[in-house]
Amino acid sequence: MTPPIDPARRQLLRTLVLGMSLAPVGAPAVPAEPPLISENDPAAKMVHYIEDARRASGATDGATCASCSLYSGGGGADRGSCTLFPGKLVRAAGWCSSWSSL
Ligand code: SF4
Repeated sequence: MTPPIDPARRQLLRTLVLGMSLAPVGAPAVPAEPPLISENDPAAKMVHYIEDARRASGATDGATCASCSLYSGGGGADRGSCTLFPGKLVRAAGWCSSWSSL
């Protein structure tokens, strides 16, 4: 014959089982965003990269990283990637002497 289970113990076991079933298994890892390239980065200096095209003496009207064919950025994002600078981001409002519309 099985001894009766203590009601308090039964409730504790229920709470533990319910808590374990509702616990998050693990949030998916969010990849870290690459850093912004600095205007002082040697690679940036080679192409006269500047974070704000309005300060660039060689930029034509409307020529910014956001309108460059080498730029990949989300809609409305203030930064994105450039094929010239793998592993770094550029400002959407930036510009460099390699700007291209092709
Ligand atoms: Fe910006 Fe284009 Fe120059 Fe890259 S190549 S830094 S996207 S202007």
